[in-house]
Amino acid sequence: MTEYDPVCQEVLVNSKTKPHHCFSNILDRVPKAVTKYLDECQQHHRSALQDSGEPVGSRKYRQLIKDHGEDFLEEACSYLEHIDFPKDAVAQCRICNQDCPLWPVLDENCVWIEIAGNTCTPWSSVGKGLGWLDTLSIPCLIWAFTSRWQLPHHIVNECTSAWPAKSFFHKVFGGLYDISSISMSPDDLGLPATRNRTYTHLSCKSLCCPIVQLTSAEFNDIYRRDLVVDALDFWSAPKSLVKAAHRDLVKKRKIVGGLGLDRLPWHEIMPVGLKKRWFSYKKLHDETIASGSGGHAAICNLAWNSSYFGSPRSLMPALLTKSVIYSFAAKRPLLACEHFVVHGIPLFRGSDVVDDDLFLNLGLKRQRRLSGNQTVVQVVGTVVGLIMLGHRSR
Ligand SMILES: [Zn+2]
Repeated sequence: MTEYDPVCQEVLVNSKTKPHHCFSNILDRVPKAVTKYLDECQQHHRSALQDSGEPVGSRKYRQLIKDHGEDFLEEACSYLEHIDFPKDAVAQCRICNQDCPLWPVLDENCVWIEIAGNTCTPWSSVGKGLGWLDTLSIPCLIWAFTSRWQLPHHIVNECTSAWPAKSFFHKVFGGLYDISSISMSPDDLGLPATRNRTYTHLSCKSLCCPIVQLTSAEFNDIYRRDLVVDALDFWSAPKSLVKAAHRDLVKKRKIVGGLGLDRLPWHEIMPVGLKKRWFSYKKLHDETIASGSGGHAAICNLAWNSSYFGSPRSLMPALLTKSVIYSFAAKRPLLACEHFVVHGIPLFRGSDVVDDDLFLNLGLKRQRRLSGNQTVVQVVGTVVGLIMLGHRSR
């Protein structure tokens, strides 16, 4: 995402702790002719899918997506395997404002850990469901093959569990790397949020001594924690921001009245559809409180019907760009800027590392888009920490 999405790059380039380099587009790693070939090949399979005449969404249609996707992947891999990616490649860098070397120069004491999360929408339920036939899968292919060519010591990948990580990495890196995958969610580490993802670790056989490969059960034995943080801590924006968001909504909804408008409860100023859902969640909430089984933060997602989501709960559900998260304990919705806090960015704490304004000034839509695609800092940090602990060069 960093090397693909302009919003992500803007945050990196303007952050307090600037990276040494920030490249503009991952597709710049290869000559234009390479992406052109892949685009055309993929387009050919998409056309065949459309020409099939099968109704969109039917079983046959979904099978065709799978078959054509696998054929495209096969053709793309055979093609990319024979590309000679130059070791001294350069690309436009947004930090140095010039062409910079794409790959780090390593002395013998350096360990290169390549960390990447690829765009998951082609495989996730919110995307078009096109899998490898989605144009967004091409950056992932370019990333994988250029990484293989450069042979980092370790590679860490994060993606939705619907992405076929295991078969893909064996196809591209099999023989060169030891490969292991685990699936986990922040709540496995004691954080009050759900976001199940698959983390795949690849360790270069010729550069690293084998690391004991952990199974999910072993990982759980070491790292699993009961909740150590309360989800209400995510509702952490200062009062002035909450008031401003309330005022904006009153204005947007064209609610008129005299003094006391700013004291209207949030559910009174929400759009009608959300307000309706709020009442059905409120009913469930009152029932669970009465039975003594209610979650402390009492969180629900007003973007979904209560019949689908269930009773308000104590864990933050996975955030999507359209989520409207409400806590009955906090008595207000989670602000879009607070989504970053859920994913581990320490906003509103006077951090030396993070510039709050940089995130606040993005605007609602970009805040949601960026946080919705974000990797949870603590989870990926745990995976990387584990690799650093176990690493020994050959
Ligand atoms: Zn640079």
